[in-house]
This record gives sequence, structure tokens and C-alpha cells, in this order.
Amino acid sequence: MSRLPPVPDWAPALAARACAREGTAPPEILWGRVRRRGHPMRLQGGVASYAVNDGHLSHGQLQRAGGRRVIKVWAGVDERDARLVFLHELAHWIAGDAHAPAFWDCAWRLYRRYLSAHLDFALAREAPYRVEAIKAASRAGVPGAARMLEERAAARTRSRRGRRAAVGRA
Ligand SMILES: [Zn+2]
Repeated sequence: MSRLPPVPDWAPALAARACAREGTAPPEILWGRVRRRGHPMRLQGGVASYAVNDGHLSHGQLQRAGGRRVIKVWAGVDERDARLVFLHELAHWIAGDAHAPAFWDCAWRLYRRYLSAHLDFALAREAPYRVEAIKAASRAGVPGAARMLEERAAARTRSRRGRRAAVGRA
């Protein structure tokens, strides 16, 4: 008997819909549960890394298993978050491994279609991971993304000015 929990019904259904619309075949899916604390969260295919996880957050990976590629999600207790992670990995399946602009454009296309009630959550979750995620969110018209980019640019300008001032005093 496998100790893995069953793949929830929504995941293959979502993969089938999303992949049909994107013109590609759906991937195989594996499901696991995230461990409650101290999970070694150095992820390559996942959404974010956290030293300590309270059990809410999920992570995922587009794995290679033999010649196949399989999406695996380690699900936390927040289903909205599990969906976000699943869609992130689905975007890798569709648009490639690299966190390149084309990947993020695909990810936000999927978030807008299938996670539209939680775009603010998606932005908060993806923003700390890669600035490219915010740029793509801004291109996709996600509310708050353009302002987040402006604030980051302003913060960078302030820190550059700060460094110049420090050099000037030396
Ligand atoms: Zn990724």
C-alpha cells in the first residue's frame, strides 16, 4: 500500500482543461503531503522556499521519472495554495523549466483563468520568489503588480543614493 494521499479530483480535471486550451497533453500527477515543520525547502521546481513551514504551504516540482515527466505536489492544508503550486508546475510543463519571461506569462495566464479569485494571493506568494514573476503579473494586468514594481524600483533608487552618500562621506 502506498502512503501517498490520493491525487485530489480537481487536479487532473484542471490539468486536462488547462492543457487542452494550451494545446498540449496533460502530465501525470503525483501527490504528497508537506511535512509540518523544518521541511528542507531548497526547491528547484517549487514556488518558494521557506526554512520553516507551518503546514499551510505547498510546494511542487516537475520531476523526471525515467523518460517521463511528472508533476508532484506536496500539498499543505490550504487548497488555494496547493492549486497555485499545481498551476505553477503546470506552467513549467507547458512553457519549459526556466523561470523565463515566457514561463511567467504562461503562469499568469493560468492563474488568471483558474485562480482568478485569488490573484492577490498569487502575487504575494510569487513576488518574493522572482522579480520576473512581478513583471509578468504586471504585463498580465494583475492588480497591484505595477505598483509593486514601482515600489521596488523606488527602494532600489533610495538604496543606491544611500550608498553614494556613504561613499561621498568617506
Ligand atoms: Zn518554478
